[in-house]
Amino acid sequence: MVYKRVCITCNTEFETNHPKHLNCSKECNSIYRVNQRYKRENNDWQRYFKHLLSTKKDHTLTVAELVGKIAEQNYKCALSGVELTCNHERGNIIQTNASIDRINAGEEYNYGNIQLVCRAINSFRGNLSIEEFKFWCEEVVKNAIQK
Ligand SMILES: [Zn+2]
Repeated sequence: MVYKRVCITCNTEFETNHPKHLNCSKECNSIYRVNQRYKRENNDWQRYFKHLLSTKKDHTLTVAELVGKIAEQNYKCALSGVELTCNHERGNIIQTNASIDRINAGEEYNYGNIQLVCRAINSFRGNLSIEEFKFWCEEVVKNAIQK
């Protein structure tokens, strides 16, 4: 038995002998699985942090600690104060998504040494200390105001 289907990911027609296949190819299947994971994680801090921690080595953090930390921060970025989000979109980096920032970049990821900041701030800060980061932010703002 051959089934005619339309791929749920790329909308291309395909044939399959398996009635449960939704995707036309391995590639579409992996895109589909990532999209499904994103859907589950969106607006679900537990799942979002669980995945975030799975991408990090050398830490002693737990999902419960991160959920506690974000509540403590009122769901706002510790450095910029913008509202943090936990949404994924394929092919799109959401700059307000929460990320784990080490207060002292030379130390490890442990509860006492982390804060949650938005993606944008985390990438701007890089390896700067918080003092250095603030200095450069101020310089940018001063310069931008003068222009
Ligand atoms: Zn496809």
